Amino acid sequence: MIERMEHGITRLAPSPTGALHLGNARTFVVNWLLARQRGWRVLYRLEDLDTARTKPGSAEATESILRWLGLDWDDTQPRQSTRTEAYLEALSALRESSHVYPCICSRKDIALAASAPHVEDGVVCYPGTCRGRFATADEAQAQAGRLPAWRFDAGESSVPCFDQFAGEQTFYLPRIGGDFVVYRNENIPGYQLAVVVDDHAGGVNRIVRGDDLLDSTARQTLLRGALGYTEAVEYYHLPLVLDEEGNRLAKRRDDIRLEDLRASGVAPEAVLGVLAYWCGSQDAPEPMSLTEWLAKFDIETLPADPVNLTPSLLAKLAR
Ligand code: GLU
Repeated sequence: MIERMEHGITRLAPSPTGALHLGNARTFVVNWLLARQRGWRVLYRLEDLDTARTKPGSAEATESILRWLGLDWDDTQPRQSTRTEAYLEALSALRESSHVYPCICSRKDIALAASAPHVEDGVVCYPGTCRGRFATADEAQAQAGRLPAWRFDAGESSVPCFDQFAGEQTFYLPRIGGDFVVYRNENIPGYQLAVVVDDHAGGVNRIVRGDDLLDSTARQTLLRGALGYTEAVEYYHLPLVLDEEGNRLAKRRDDIRLEDLRASGVAPEAVLGVLAYWCGSQDAPEPMSLTEWLAKFDIETLPADPVNLTPSLLAKLAR
């Protein structure tokens, strides 16, 4: 029997907000390994909408590190800062179908209005202050004296999502922040909208990313439904890499930045060896080439729990 080819399309979607560290690198490499093993097409897309957090030179540095590790891609999507027209078009569709409403709340207003029961795990739930408040965007603008933001009216939605790692999940929107911003009041498209529009434009149907974005799948599923995008998407949210204290690796921490490791003479195989060890592809963090890892990689051996960056692993890299 001839095995059916998967028509998978995935994307590597870095944000140029700082230097790549071992944790981000692991996600990109696993994404690439899965794609190359399964014959998915790989797109590269720079997510550079958050200009306040963009670091000069970071886009180029990220690309050069990914290439240094041996990754490649089949096509490049336009960077998000050049796609305003497409995002505005999606916003008008959402406005027309009344899936979004103008919002003039500041962060402070939201924090004050959100009473204690809404605050879970540090998530501040939008209390719905502007839902149904303005008949038109002009009215909202006149009241605030600036452009309103646009929020998706998620109401009491419960969204089932299937993740290849986490399994079946159901997200109740009021628990994960409630109505979410699709366009910011600085007239900047929000992350959720931009990702959904770009994934659809590129035909992306395999999404691999860190599990800090797991609940974003619910928001993106709602948006996709509202925009009439019907293609099925498979999600893989990878458990994160944590530091010695159990915190997420921060981009500002400089002993784990790949650029610095490269500059100090560490070979890509040494880095890949640590990543492969974290993924259960080998029993010790010994150097490994990307080709060798590609032959060995098995998504089933990837631990379901976060992995730790220990001082001995760092020492191994510094050797
Ligand atoms: N650009 C995002 C990041 O660097 C990834 C977004 C996504 O994969 O949906 O974290």
